[in-house]
Amino acid sequence: MTTTAEKTNLLGMPKAKLEAFFETLGEKRFRATQMLQWMHQRGVDDFDQMTNVSKSLREKLKQVAVIRGPEVIYDETSKDGTRKWVMRMDNGNSVETVLIPDGERGTLCVSSQIGCTLDCTFCSTGKRGFNRNLTAAEIIGQVWVARKAFMPFEPGPDRPITNVVMMGMGEPLMNFDNVVDAMSLMMDDLAYGISKRRVTLSTSGVVPAIDRLSEVTDVSLAISLHAPNDELRNQLVPLNKKYPIAELLAATKRYFSRLPEKRKATIEYTVIENMNDKPEHARELARLLRDVPCKINLIPFNPFPESDFRRPSMNATRRFQTILSEAGYVVTIRTPRGDDIDAACGQLVGQVEDRTRRSQRYINVQQVNA
Ligand code: SAH
Ligand code: SF4
Repeated sequence: MTTTAEKTNLLGMPKAKLEAFFETLGEKRFRATQMLQWMHQRGVDDFDQMTNVSKSLREKLKQVAVIRGPEVIYDETSKDGTRKWVMRMDNGNSVETVLIPDGERGTLCVSSQIGCTLDCTFCSTGKRGFNRNLTAAEIIGQVWVARKAFMPFEPGPDRPITNVVMMGMGEPLMNFDNVVDAMSLMMDDLAYGISKRRVTLSTSGVVPAIDRLSEVTDVSLAISLHAPNDELRNQLVPLNKKYPIAELLAATKRYFSRLPEKRKATIEYTVIENMNDKPEHARELARLLRDVPCKINLIPFNPFPESDFRRPSMNATRRFQTILSEAGYVVTIRTPRGDDIDAACGQLVGQVEDRTRRSQRYINVQQVNA
């Protein structure tokens, strides 16, 4: 008998790959359409429930394929309605996924990697080191699990998940192909049917991958900038030493100039007390972004145990906002959500079997400082 490990997991396959899969079985391509609807719209993972698929094909599928999403090991809802799942990906590794309801909108924050290689100084995911990239099945599996939590599900305006942001654990552009496959399923009408404006990829600035991205998709793009000059950004986002701000903003402009319609980047700026929160930083940022079509999202720093950074006062954050608004930008402040269950930005840690030994290094530093 074939073991599960040798079977093909269909969950992460976008339409074209599923069509190719059915062709190799000697089946018609339209089977892909049926399969997408069963898996993603009805949440079915058992071939025997697929009533419009013949018995013989169902038997064939059982021999060679599975539909397998992540296993939920924690599911909690915060006081403010934010819901967090911890999903086990394999022995020793899990990631976190967060649903943030806000009026009509439900934004799902999805992880792309187990840990992160990039080690930004203000991010708790970075401190945990890195294990591996998630597969496309594991990425879309997070949407699948969250959507199944709201079954029975009728398509319509009051969907629980209206937006997806690739802002969970990991750097999505360091896991390019799997993230692109998963995002294509998010947008496919046969799967989740979320519009390209409501699927957002957030990156700390992997410049060559931003250019590649514009060749294969047109999702919304958020740039994690966090500093108005290279000297400061080098301290916060080590990747900046490889791809400095000028190159990053040039790639951002190229991405948007290739879209047929007018859209704007979101510039994310985590505001950290006494680091990047001064009025002169705001003024420098306003000058820097002058010719970048963008809106700005300020994220007050969310503390976590391994960090000495502090969240600035609301007054300091508002003052920062006012300077930018007066310079003509649309600026929002992201209110921390779900921090009572550690679901806020930068607090997602999951369980990472660290291959980089970085997590041990941080524990040693903490012990020395204690
Ligand atoms: N790796 C990607 C996406 C995941 S991080 C990226 O860096 O863009 C999602 C957002 O949360 C980023 O803008 C990140 O800079 C921000 N973030 C990380 N740690 C944070 C913290 N402790 N407080 C507030 N925002 C944080
Ligand atoms: Fe990785 Fe993003 Fe965290 Fe930086 S902020 S360490 S890129 S997850």
